[in-house]
Amino acid sequence: MQYPREIERLIAELCKLPGIGRKSAQQLAFHILELDEKEADDFADAIRDARHSVRYCPVCGNLTDKDKCAICSDPSRRKDVICVVETPQDVMAMEALKEYHGQYHVLNGVISAMEGIGPEDINLKSLIERLRDSEVQEVILATNPNIEGEATAMYIARLLKPAGIKVTRIAHGLPVGGDIEYADKVTLLKSLEGRTEI
Ligand SMILES: [Zn+2]
Repeated sequence: MQYPREIERLIAELCKLPGIGRKSAQQLAFHILELDEKEADDFADAIRDARHSVRYCPVCGNLTDKDKCAICSDPSRRKDVICVVETPQDVMAMEALKEYHGQYHVLNGVISAMEGIGPEDINLKSLIERLRDSEVQEVILATNPNIEGEATAMYIARLLKPAGIKVTRIAHGLPVGGDIEYADKVTLLKSLEGRTEI
Protein backbone atom coordinates (compact mmCIF):
# COMPACT_ATOMS: atom_id res chain seq x y z
CA MET A 1 0.00 0.00 0.00
CA GLN A 2 1.17 3.50 -0.80
CA TYR A 3 0.56 6.78 0.94
CA PRO A 4 -1.26 9.55 -0.89
CA ARG A 5 0.73 10.78 -3.87
CA GLU A 6 1.93 14.03 -2.24
CA ILE A 7 3.29 12.17 0.77
CA GLU A 8 5.04 9.62 -1.43
CA ARG A 9 6.63 12.50 -3.32
CA LEU A 10 7.85 14.09 -0.08
CA ILE A 11 9.25 10.74 1.10
CA ALA A 12 10.98 10.23 -2.25
CA GLU A 13 12.61 13.68 -2.01
CA LEU A 14 13.76 13.13 1.58
CA CYS A 15 15.28 9.79 0.56
CA LYS A 16 17.72 11.75 -1.63
CA LEU A 17 19.42 13.11 1.50
CA PRO A 18 22.56 11.27 2.63
CA GLY A 19 21.98 8.66 5.31
CA ILE A 20 18.22 8.82 4.96
CA GLY A 21 16.54 5.54 4.09
CA ARG A 22 12.85 5.07 3.41
CA LYS A 23 11.98 4.53 7.07
CA SER A 24 13.70 7.73 8.25
CA ALA A 25 12.21 9.60 5.29
CA GLN A 26 8.74 8.50 6.37
CA GLN A 27 9.35 9.71 9.91
CA LEU A 28 10.60 13.06 8.64
CA ALA A 29 7.69 13.35 6.21
CA PHE A 30 5.18 12.84 9.01
CA HIS A 31 7.02 15.32 11.18
CA ILE A 32 6.83 17.87 8.35
CA LEU A 33 3.11 17.20 7.99
CA GLU A 34 2.67 18.08 11.66
CA LEU A 35 4.18 21.54 11.14
CA ASP A 36 1.67 24.32 10.76
CA GLU A 37 1.44 25.71 7.25
CA LYS A 38 3.59 28.77 7.96
CA GLU A 39 6.40 26.63 9.38
CA ALA A 40 6.24 24.29 6.41
CA ASP A 41 6.40 27.26 4.02
CA ASP A 42 9.43 28.66 5.88
CA PHE A 43 11.11 25.27 5.61
CA ALA A 44 10.48 25.06 1.88
CA ASP A 45 11.59 28.68 1.40
CA ALA A 46 14.83 28.04 3.31
CA ILE A 47 15.70 25.18 0.95
CA ARG A 48 14.80 27.20 -2.15
CA ASP A 49 16.61 30.37 -1.04
CA ALA A 50 19.76 28.53 0.05
CA ARG A 51 19.92 26.63 -3.23
CA HIS A 52 19.28 29.72 -5.35
CA SER A 53 21.53 32.25 -3.63
CA VAL A 54 24.46 30.21 -2.36
CA ARG A 55 27.26 29.42 -4.77
CA TYR A 56 30.92 28.51 -4.74
CA CYS A 57 33.39 31.38 -4.36
CA PRO A 58 35.19 31.63 -7.72
CA VAL A 59 38.50 32.26 -5.96
CA CYS A 60 38.63 29.62 -3.23
CA GLY A 61 35.62 27.31 -3.63
CA ASN A 62 34.08 28.19 -0.26
CA LEU A 63 30.34 28.76 -0.10
CA THR A 64 29.08 32.32 -0.45
CA ASP A 65 25.99 34.35 -1.30
CA LYS A 66 28.12 37.19 -2.71
CA ASP A 67 30.48 37.50 -5.68
CA LYS A 68 33.38 36.43 -3.47
CA CYS A 69 33.32 34.74 -0.06
CA ALA A 70 33.77 36.66 3.19
CA ILE A 71 37.35 35.42 3.66
CA CYS A 72 38.55 36.23 0.12
CA SER A 73 36.95 39.69 0.44
CA ASP A 74 38.54 40.47 3.80
CA PRO A 75 41.54 42.80 3.22
CA SER A 76 42.88 42.22 6.74
CA ARG A 77 43.67 38.55 6.12
CA ARG A 78 47.17 37.37 5.26
CA LYS A 79 47.74 36.75 1.57
CA ASP A 80 50.95 34.73 1.90
CA VAL A 81 49.45 31.48 3.14
CA ILE A 82 46.68 29.23 1.81
CA CYS A 83 45.14 26.41 3.81
CA VAL A 84 43.73 23.65 1.59
CA VAL A 85 40.69 21.86 3.03
CA GLU A 86 38.14 19.39 1.73
CA THR A 87 34.85 21.10 2.57
CA PRO A 88 33.30 24.42 3.59
CA GLN A 89 32.58 22.76 6.97
CA ASP A 90 36.36 22.40 7.43
CA VAL A 91 36.74 26.15 6.89
CA MET A 92 34.22 26.68 9.69
CA ALA A 93 36.17 24.33 11.98
CA MET A 94 39.45 26.14 11.23
CA GLU A 95 37.87 29.55 11.69
CA ALA A 96 36.48 28.49 15.06
CA LEU A 97 40.11 28.25 16.26
CA LYS A 98 40.55 32.00 15.68
CA GLU A 99 44.28 31.32 15.19
CA TYR A 100 44.55 31.09 11.43
CA HIS A 101 44.36 34.35 9.49
CA GLY A 102 45.36 33.34 5.98
CA GLN A 103 43.41 32.30 2.91
CA TYR A 104 41.68 28.99 2.16
CA HIS A 105 41.23 26.78 -0.81
CA VAL A 106 38.27 24.40 -0.64
CA LEU A 107 38.61 21.28 -2.79
CA ASN A 108 34.96 20.31 -2.39
CA GLY A 109 36.00 16.69 -2.55
CA VAL A 110 39.01 14.39 -2.36
CA ILE A 111 40.81 12.20 -4.81
CA SER A 112 39.44 8.68 -4.40
CA ALA A 113 40.46 5.77 -6.60
CA MET A 114 37.71 3.70 -4.97
CA GLU A 115 35.01 6.10 -6.04
CA GLY A 116 36.64 7.02 -9.32
CA ILE A 117 37.22 10.66 -8.31
CA GLY A 118 40.33 12.06 -9.96
CA PRO A 119 42.22 15.34 -9.54
CA GLU A 120 40.18 16.90 -12.35
CA ASP A 121 36.95 16.20 -10.43
CA ILE A 122 37.83 18.39 -7.44
CA ASN A 123 38.51 22.13 -7.17
CA LEU A 124 42.25 21.82 -7.72
CA LYS A 125 42.99 23.46 -11.06
CA SER A 126 41.95 26.84 -9.66
CA LEU A 127 44.51 26.43 -6.85
CA ILE A 128 47.32 26.10 -9.36
CA GLU A 129 46.04 29.15 -11.23
CA ARG A 130 45.79 31.06 -7.95
CA LEU A 131 49.40 30.32 -7.07
CA ARG A 132 50.69 31.60 -10.37
CA ASP A 133 52.14 35.10 -9.88
CA SER A 134 50.88 35.21 -6.30
CA GLU A 135 52.59 36.25 -3.08
CA VAL A 136 51.84 32.88 -1.46
CA GLN A 137 54.78 31.52 0.54
CA GLU A 138 53.16 28.49 2.12
CA VAL A 139 50.39 26.06 1.28
CA ILE A 140 49.08 24.12 4.29
CA LEU A 141 47.46 20.82 3.34
CA ALA A 142 44.66 20.25 5.85
CA THR A 143 42.81 17.40 4.19
CA ASN A 144 41.42 14.72 6.51
CA PRO A 145 43.81 12.12 8.01
CA ASN A 146 42.31 9.17 6.15
CA ILE A 147 43.36 7.30 2.99
CA GLU A 148 41.71 9.70 0.54
CA GLY A 149 42.81 12.79 2.47
CA GLU A 150 46.45 11.60 2.61
CA ALA A 151 46.47 10.61 -1.05
CA THR A 152 45.06 13.99 -2.01
CA ALA A 153 47.63 15.82 0.12
CA MET A 154 50.48 13.83 -1.45
CA TYR A 155 49.19 14.51 -4.94
CA ILE A 156 48.97 18.27 -4.32
CA ALA A 157 52.38 18.34 -2.63
CA ARG A 158 53.95 16.69 -5.68
CA LEU A 159 52.16 19.12 -7.93
CA LEU A 160 53.33 22.22 -6.05
CA LYS A 161 56.89 21.26 -5.20
CA PRO A 162 58.37 22.18 -8.58
CA ALA A 163 56.93 25.69 -8.18
CA GLY A 164 59.18 26.17 -5.17
CA ILE A 165 56.34 26.88 -2.76
CA LYS A 166 56.69 25.63 0.81
CA VAL A 167 54.12 22.87 1.29
CA THR A 168 53.20 21.71 4.78
CA ARG A 169 50.91 19.00 6.10
CA ILE A 170 48.99 19.37 9.35
CA ALA A 171 50.45 17.11 12.03
CA HIS A 172 49.15 13.72 12.95
CA GLY A 173 47.45 13.72 16.30
CA LEU A 174 44.11 14.10 14.73
CA PRO A 175 42.48 10.69 15.08
CA VAL A 176 43.38 8.66 12.00
CA GLY A 177 40.30 8.22 9.85
CA GLY A 178 38.72 11.13 11.68
CA ASP A 179 37.31 14.29 10.21
CA ILE A 180 38.74 17.77 10.69
CA GLU A 181 35.19 18.99 10.86
CA TYR A 182 34.57 17.01 14.04
CA ALA A 183 37.98 17.35 15.71
CA ASP A 184 38.03 19.17 19.01
CA LYS A 185 39.61 22.62 18.94
CA VAL A 186 42.70 21.77 21.00
CA THR A 187 43.54 18.79 18.80
CA LEU A 188 43.00 20.73 15.60
CA LEU A 189 45.05 23.68 16.83
CA LYS A 190 47.94 21.39 17.85
CA SER A 191 47.72 19.71 14.49
CA LEU A 192 47.93 23.07 12.73
CA GLU A 193 50.80 24.34 14.89
CA GLY A 194 52.71 21.08 14.51
CA ARG A 195 52.53 21.06 10.71
CA THR A 196 55.64 19.89 8.93
CA GLU A 197 57.07 20.53 5.51
CA ILE A 198 56.57 17.74 3.00
ZN1 LIG B 1 36.68 32.70 -1.35
